[in-house]
Amino acid sequence: MRNLVTIKDNPLVRVVNYIYDYQDPQEIYIPILNKSTFKMYDYIYKNTYLGDSIVSISGKIVGSKKVFYQNNYVPALKIKNDFKENTTTKKRRRKINNKEELINTLEKYHLNNIIEKLNKDADSLIISSIDEEIYSLKEFMCLATNYNEILETINELLRILNISSSLIAIKNTNSKSIQNVKSIIGTYPFIKIKLVPDNYLISYPKFLCEYLNFSEDKTIILTSNDIYDIYNVLYKAKDISETLVTLSGDVLEKSLIINTRIGVSLEELTKKYLNILNSDYDIYLNGYLKGIKVNDLKDIIITKDIDSVVFKLREDTPEEECINCGACQKICPFKINVKKCYFKNLNHKLCIGCGLCNFVCPANINLRKVVRRDSVEEENN
Ligand code: SF4
Ligand code: SF4
Repeated sequence: MRNLVTIKDNPLVRVVNYIYDYQDPQEIYIPILNKSTFKMYDYIYKNTYLGDSIVSISGKIVGSKKVFYQNNYVPALKIKNDFKENTTTKKRRRKINNKEELINTLEKYHLNNIIEKLNKDADSLIISSIDEEIYSLKEFMCLATNYNEILETINELLRILNISSSLIAIKNTNSKSIQNVKSIIGTYPFIKIKLVPDNYLISYPKFLCEYLNFSEDKTIILTSNDIYDIYNVLYKAKDISETLVTLSGDVLEKSLIINTRIGVSLEELTKKYLNILNSDYDIYLNGYLKGIKVNDLKDIIITKDIDSVVFKLREDTPEEECINCGACQKICPFKINVKKCYFKNLNHKLCIGCGLCNFVCPANINLRKVVRRDSVEEENN
């Protein structure tokens, strides 16, 4: 059994266990990765796709700027909300009979990350409601809130994928999800619950399969949010224009979870919901340990792949000399010789950038930056 560690949270940074709903942004930004045919003042309907990005409101293009998207700064169109929610096409719900039909349907909704996970010859299905980092509650809250829809959809997926049973993995500390799922699981004889320890990285597919004793090659692993997206597509023919994001940090008056339209700027969300108590902070997208540090909240837009934003008091602790303590290699889940890689300026093909080596290094050396070659951090620092 792999030795995974538990990261203790900061009791001052507790996330409010309630979902705020932000459905009326003033404007949104759509990243443009390829040349766009749209120009200033063109009207864009809600649920239009520009590349793989959904337009989550309706309104006119009123400008453009660079935003941080998929680890790069890319141009984005600014769309001003007319609050009319105008759409052009209505999609129809239809019965799905097999995996091929499911994938074809998901393609129409640009749910490529789910399609990627489905694209294997599997005989098992695991649903993970585990958030990797302690200050992301996206998966936990999705299951805790939408457990009826999620179980119904898992049951339907078993039929579509021709898989005999499924397992929902829930952290043993997530009592709200456990209680809610247990209250209805009796209706679904082919779905079981498995409680997992509150360890960092246990949601990583390889480690989750190891812990649950499943073959990774033969197992489809979907998250609670994936299942809820599939539910909206299969049962409601609804485009996925919203996402859950956790905002937390030691410079905030309170930390919270927001269901927001995709494409809204972090600046707008911050103005609406947060009181930042100290201006000397760093921003981490998708976690403090594993996430990416960014310079300015004005550049950030909330997309499907952003689970959490951490506002962390800036620490100006200088790097010191390595004291050869060996802690980095000891804690690395792959037992990589991190120190050697760092000092020889080598990356390592097994490194998943989990940040544990940085976290334990008493000399404050940014080991992950070299071992994983995280180009964004290099660029910013
Ligand atoms: S960031 Fe890479 S090298 Fe460091 S502990 Fe994680 S996997 Fe190991
Ligand atoms: S944890 Fe830091 S100080 Fe200890 S061996 Fe690794 S690099 Fe050196």
